[in-house]
Amino acid sequence: MATRVGPTKVGIVGYGKIAQDQHVPSIEGNPHFELAATVSRSGNGHPGVPCFASHTDMLREVKDLGAISICTPPSVRYAIARDCLEAGLPCLLEKPPGVTLGEVEELAKLAEAKGLTLFTTWHAQHNPAVTAAAEALKGKSVAAMRITWREDVRKWHPGQAWIWEPGGFGVFDPGINAFSIATRIFPGTLWLKEAELLYPGNKQSPIAARLALSGSAATGDIAAEFDWRHSGGEAWDIEVRTSDGGTILLSEGGSKLSVDGKPVASQGLGEYPDIYREFAELLDGKKSHVDVAPLRLCAEAFLLGRRTMVEPFED
Ligand code: NAP
Repeated sequence: MATRVGPTKVGIVGYGKIAQDQHVPSIEGNPHFELAATVSRSGNGHPGVPCFASHTDMLREVKDLGAISICTPPSVRYAIARDCLEAGLPCLLEKPPGVTLGEVEELAKLAEAKGLTLFTTWHAQHNPAVTAAAEALKGKSVAAMRITWREDVRKWHPGQAWIWEPGGFGVFDPGINAFSIATRIFPGTLWLKEAELLYPGNKQSPIAARLALSGSAATGDIAAEFDWRHSGGEAWDIEVRTSDGGTILLSEGGSKLSVDGKPVASQGLGEYPDIYREFAELLDGKKSHVDVAPLRLCAEAFLLGRRTMVEPFED
């Protein structure tokens, strides 16, 4: 393990909602890191640190960067990450790590060839309740699994035009969080069987999806429903029934677990602080953590998806 000399200086590319809400506080709250620069095309960077109009400007101007966190919309992630890795900088990728599996595979190869850390983050996996659910399901056979992911797009993605474009993922932007939990806890491989994707007449990506999945450890139905047309509180739940009669309920986006109807207490750092804890460990060990399983399920849903048109959506 490398000896750390002072905090790693981090540059954030894409200073939007998630960068401001989660990455900055997690960097500032972790002594292994220091926020050194942001990239914002609109000039809306973090107060007190240099802000650049492009990642190439930042790479040229800031000489002592030690890592990059890429928090842009996913469609531009590959080109930015490639340039950063080429410049010798380890990269943390917000979810989803790219818009195609090939992009992520290529970045992983590049990181390996250069001996640099590449970390494809899935924030929902950093809930201790998710780890506990995976432990509880280890070696079991799954009789049924139901994933329900409903939220109000106006609350969570106000004015985000990119999310409705090709490569923006639509309702799979939150849905991939459910997939990241499902692939983490399911005791085998999951794959898509059928998909119905509901597209507003004026959009290029779906507002809702109904999915049927299969799995290597499954004896019954696995179903998922993602819906952005939901007002009131969110429903972010995964329910599993095992063949031996046990039940697992992960609710509130993976933060609460009950096993056989009884709540299981779990404590952790919180999703994003835990992401940066792991990033520090990966950097020290010069290791990568690359996981494409949630992205693969999305790709399969778009590959198999039957398209149903629904009423136009206006923000
Ligand atoms: P956002 O608020 O739209 O922020 C993204 C930022 O990236 C924008 O502020 C924009 O800043 C910059 N950007 C946009 N298009 C760009 C482009 N073509 N090239 C370079 N920079 C560009 O989006 P967000 O909600 O933070 O989401 C970003 C990523 O985080 C997504 O992959 C999302 O899935 C993930 N995420 C979001 C949340 C959430 O709750 N919102 C939660 C977890 C993960 P400038 O215009 O100033 O450059």
